[in-house]
Amino acid sequence: MTWDSLMGGAFPDARGRYGVWGGRYVPETLVGALERLNVGAREALADTGFIDDLSRELHDWVGRPTPLTRCKRLGAHWGIDLWLKREDLAHTGAHKINNALGQALLAKRMGAKRVVAETGAGQHGVATAAACAHLGLECTVYMGAVDIKRQSANVRRMRLLGAKIVSVTSGSATLRAAINEAMRDWVSDPETTFYLLGSAVGPHPYPWLVREFQSVIGREARRQINERADCLPDVAIACVGGGSNAIGLFHPFIRDASVKLWGIEAGGRGDALGDHSATITQGSAGVLHGSFSVMLQNDDGQVQETHSISAGLDYPGVGPEHALLNELGRARYRSVTDAQAMEALGELCRLEGILPAIESSHALAGAKLWAEENPGTTVLVNLSGRGDKDLDIIEGYSATPEAI
Ligand SMILES: *Cc1c(COP(=O)(O)O)cnc(C)c1O
Repeated sequence: MTWDSLMGGAFPDARGRYGVWGGRYVPETLVGALERLNVGAREALADTGFIDDLSRELHDWVGRPTPLTRCKRLGAHWGIDLWLKREDLAHTGAHKINNALGQALLAKRMGAKRVVAETGAGQHGVATAAACAHLGLECTVYMGAVDIKRQSANVRRMRLLGAKIVSVTSGSATLRAAINEAMRDWVSDPETTFYLLGSAVGPHPYPWLVREFQSVIGREARRQINERADCLPDVAIACVGGGSNAIGLFHPFIRDASVKLWGIEAGGRGDALGDHSATITQGSAGVLHGSFSVMLQNDDGQVQETHSISAGLDYPGVGPEHALLNELGRARYRSVTDAQAMEALGELCRLEGILPAIESSHALAGAKLWAEENPGTTVLVNLSGRGDKDLDIIEGYSATPEAI
C-alpha cells in the first residue's frame, strides 16, 4: 500500500477494508443486518432528497456551520497562527451530534422504529437521545453501571430527552461492555431496531458511515480557513478516542499533500499498560468490536483497561482508517499526558475565554507540541466539545493546580 494508491483509491474497499484494516468480525447473525445497513446507507447518501434533509437539520437544529475562531492571544503565546473549528458550539455541545443525527435520519428512512446505542461518558447517549426525540424514534441507551455512577448529569439529560437507560453490569461495566450489550440487543431484532454506533469503529459499514457524517467538520473548516486565511493550514490536529472527530476533520484534507494531519491520543499518567489510552502510539494489531485495527492488549491478547482523565478518550481501540493513515505515514499520531491536556485547557480558558472539553484539550496540547517544533505556521485544531460537563473533574484535578 502506497501513498499513490491512497491518493487514487477510495477507502474502504467493497469488503470494508482500509488496506488490511477494518472488515467485519461478527457472528453470522449480524452479517445480514450489517449488509442491509450498508446498502441502505449507500442509497441514502446518494439520494439528494436525503442529503437535503440532513443539510437542513444540520443547519436549523444542530446550528451548522459551526464557526472558525482565530485565537490571536493564545496563538501569539505559542508562536503560531491558531484557528479553532468550534464543534463545542454544535447542539448538545460536541461533534457527536453530527453522526447521531445522520444515523437517526437513516434509521427513520430504513423503517426502524427503535434505536439502540451505547455510551461511555454519556455524550453519545445524549446526542442520540436528542436526535431520536427530534425525529420521533424510540431510544434505548446501554451504559456501564460504573459510568452511570460517574456521569450522572448525562444520565439525567438522557432521561429528560426521553431515552430508556439500561445499566450494564457485565464485564468491565463500562463502555466496552455497553457496546457488547447494545449489539446483543440489535441481533435479537435487527429488522425493526437500528444500532446507532457512536464513533468511527466497529464492523463495516460503521467506520465509513460515521466518517461520512463527521466529514462535515473538515469540509466546513477547509472552506472557512481558505476564505479567511487565504491558505490551507500547515497542519490539522484533532484528539483521537475512537477517532470520529479526527477522521471527520482529516478526511477532506487527505488529498492536500501540504496539510499535515496529527491525531492526539490520551497519554494519561504514564506509559505503563493501564495508565493511558494511547492506542496507536502504544498498541498492536488485533480484533475489537468487530473490526481489525490497533488496540491495547496484553501479551495474551486480553484487552487492557485504559486510563485517561478524559472519559471520551478512555477506550482501548481505534477506528481502522486511522490504522491505515498511520501505516502509510499520511497522519502522525502522538500522545499528550493528562497534565499537558489540563495545562492547555487552562490556557485556552484564560487567553481566549473558551472552556474546552478535556478531550479537545488533548488536541490543543498537541498544537502546543507542534508549535514548539514549527513556529510561525498556520494551525487548525478541532475543538471537539465544550467543557461544562467536565467541571467536577477539572476542579478535582490537583497534579498541576497552578496550571488551571
Ligand atoms: C466522545 C468525544 C471525543 C472522542 O471521540 P472520537 O470518536 O475520537 O471523536 C472527543 N471529544 C469529545 C468532546 C467527545 O465527546
